[in-house]
Amino acid sequence: NCLSVKSELEKQLKDQGLDKEIMVVKTGCIGTCDIGPVMIVYPEGVFYCNVQPEDVKEIVEEHILKGRPVKRLMYTVPTTKKVVEKVDEIDFLKGQTRIALRNCGVINPDRIEEYIARNGYAALGKVLTQMKPKEVIEEIKKSGLRGRGGGGFPTGLKWEFAAKSQSPQKYVVCNADEGDPGAFMDRSILEGDPHSIIEAMAIAGYAIGASQGYVYVRAEYPLAVERLGNAIEKAREFGFLGKNIFGSGFDFDLEIRVGAGAFVCGEETALMHSIEGRRGEPRPRPPFPAQKGLWGKPTLLNNVETYANIPPIILNGADWFTQYGTENSKGTKVFAVAGDINNTGLVEVPMGTTLREIIYDICGGIPEGKKFKAAQTGGPSGGCIPEEHLDIPIDYDSLKEIGSMMGSGGLIVMNEDNCMVDVARFFLEFTVDESCGKCTPCRVGTRRMLEILERITKGEGKEGDIELLERLAKNIKATALCGLGQTAPNPVLSTLRFFRDEYEAHIKDKI
Ligand code: SF4
Repeated sequence: NCLSVKSELEKQLKDQGLDKEIMVVKTGCIGTCDIGPVMIVYPEGVFYCNVQPEDVKEIVEEHILKGRPVKRLMYTVPTTKKVVEKVDEIDFLKGQTRIALRNCGVINPDRIEEYIARNGYAALGKVLTQMKPKEVIEEIKKSGLRGRGGGGFPTGLKWEFAAKSQSPQKYVVCNADEGDPGAFMDRSILEGDPHSIIEAMAIAGYAIGASQGYVYVRAEYPLAVERLGNAIEKAREFGFLGKNIFGSGFDFDLEIRVGAGAFVCGEETALMHSIEGRRGEPRPRPPFPAQKGLWGKPTLLNNVETYANIPPIILNGADWFTQYGTENSKGTKVFAVAGDINNTGLVEVPMGTTLREIIYDICGGIPEGKKFKAAQTGGPSGGCIPEEHLDIPIDYDSLKEIGSMMGSGGLIVMNEDNCMVDVARFFLEFTVDESCGKCTPCRVGTRRMLEILERITKGEGKEGDIELLERLAKNIKATALCGLGQTAPNPVLSTLRFFRDEYEAHIKDKI
């Protein structure tokens, strides 16, 4: 639909003889999912939403030719019904601090010149001309950046381990196999700002001594694959990839590998098996990828959002980055907000922002005046946060303390109408479907848990079911081989912790 709006705009501008004076820029997604397609008219910055091809003529004739912005296509705040004219006045966008998403919705991802105009590849230039690999790693360590893909492992430390592994061949990998239901920030970055990932991976290659990188993207993201492919070609043409980059003697190149839709391939060892052309199943660690990764060589893996933070950290310095966030979780985090909420979409905020601020100040609260019941963070590995914790600052540690986790940043908001046992069942169903079947606790244990949940939600639950669920959950967490199984019980455990009465009501009242 966005593309048909764009074609209509180009046609209308041509019909009016304005096609030489006004530039139409196709960008990646700005993150305002529920009100797209959107169009911003500069220099005024007037923001139009839900634009259809048939609205375009009016925008051209009224706004562009007569200077009268079209009110009916402007954004209306759902709660106050106030009409907002300018893009920088919209709460959803103005409440954000965009570092990873800095170029999304701003530049044309297919034009490398636009990335360069926003300081693109300047960080790569800086490391190759002014910094030793060790200094790059020190800067990343100092920034406190932690992996944005789920685990929150310190990025600089990971880079250091890979750098210290001795081998003539090393690899840098980007995990773009974003599979959590509800998470789509990595997709948005790849579609809207692919050069930032290429630049970051080249920096990582220089820091650890690798000359080859792979981006593992899920097949369900064809536009991301296409734009990344275009960007890699352009980067080669401009000399940012390939041999002797910037005359520094450093060689680095990238290839894309497309995944085939298995959630477990987001797990790093399974992902590497898949790149090697083997069955995408996890293996025990150690050895860790930094010692023995792709084809047995030291390999550095980070996800898309983690890499997106690298160029600004190098350019602006670690001290700039640490001004955002909490003591142990620095910088910002992108959340994909969905569910019972007025404004859905991508929200990037400093770590430590409270759930209440995200839900009410940025995303406009719950529709139809309904009450907030819970927010699910971390997808199928995470947990549900009840109203009493709306004011905890969201960072890696505080989420863990209340039995949830950051995960990749999926945030599903639920109103008072939701049954939390159903929610737990939904996530467990997903994990059961996606279990690779390699180890018994996950393959069999999660299925048994699901059977119990199914009978509870059908009103056929028995006394002792809750205790059995808890016992199984504990055992699976302790014995499953990989992160998928180890975290699969989390949605059940967290709903049991905060909404046990709902489980009991199902069993007692046979509902
Ligand atoms: Fe496969 Fe699940 Fe075992 Fe991971 S925990 S290896 S997904 S069966």
